Amino acid sequence: MLEIERVVEDVAVNLLRFAVIELPKDVKEALQYAYREEESKAGRTQLRAILDNIELAEKMRVPLCQDTGVINFYVRVGAQAKHLDEIEKALQNATKRATKEIPLRPNAVDPFTQKNTQDNTGRFIPFINWEILSGDGIEITVLPKGGGSENVSTLGMLVPGEGLAGLKKFVVDAVIKAGSMPCPPTILGIGVGGGADIAMKLAKAAILRPLNQPNLNPDLARLEKVLCEAANMTGIGPMGLGGRFTVLGVNIDYAHRHPASYPVAVAFQCWAARRATACILSNGTVEYLTHKVRRDDGDLQA
Ligand code: SF4
Repeated sequence: MLEIERVVEDVAVNLLRFAVIELPKDVKEALQYAYREEESKAGRTQLRAILDNIELAEKMRVPLCQDTGVINFYVRVGAQAKHLDEIEKALQNATKRATKEIPLRPNAVDPFTQKNTQDNTGRFIPFINWEILSGDGIEITVLPKGGGSENVSTLGMLVPGEGLAGLKKFVVDAVIKAGSMPCPPTILGIGVGGGADIAMKLAKAAILRPLNQPNLNPDLARLEKVLCEAANMTGIGPMGLGGRFTVLGVNIDYAHRHPASYPVAVAFQCWAARRATACILSNGTVEYLTHKVRRDDGDLQA
């Protein structure tokens, strides 16, 4: 095995472990804020249970939800990085290892035969999103995506004339239709423009943006706030039992579109908004960006 393959595999196993056990700080803080501010008694009870669950998972070093999701990787590679052709195999091996070692629930099923591969790998799974940048480093983000929130993610091909009002209606309707199914409070990733596939890809990637990181575009930052308030006015509340906090945040991304097309995609992310990121520098040094490395997490390497 090449050195880079070993490092990528070890880092990806660690990222999977971090992600499924411990939520990023911004998500935990948003849930704590929701608990403090929630006015509905049932909503507060649900948020208390969620926070207790998070604490217990961290203490016991076990996954915080039984659905450890379908594994998605976002890989940003420097054009000068070496052995890029080894990364895919390393991520597949990492997924297999993590399934056994953490363990993860086997969630990769053949859509026609229903056969479960038992190791979370399969055709196009784990799914790898690639981005090429300048430099020689490798940044890996893992997104284990739960089924409950994925099931209500949706795409609308709106009429361009519907404009912003149409977009808002589509998003709020999606939240109402989803109800309790995505395990709220959720994070909404909104992808606008491009084409059907591009909008959905942008929406899913948008849920990775930390909740405390505002949109760099001030108009979109304002729109995110408006959509967040509108979604919370539905009163669906934590786990659908009523309350002020149906969503924790809304993240928008967009691409330019065909004049006749207005795709709007809504990717739902449940309260278990798991993600973890690390950078592998060209000298082999690894920096974990979202989680603190703990020595009690099994055989942490790299
Ligand atoms: S939607 Fe999220 S919180 Fe709900 S069961 Fe699935 S992974 Fe767990």
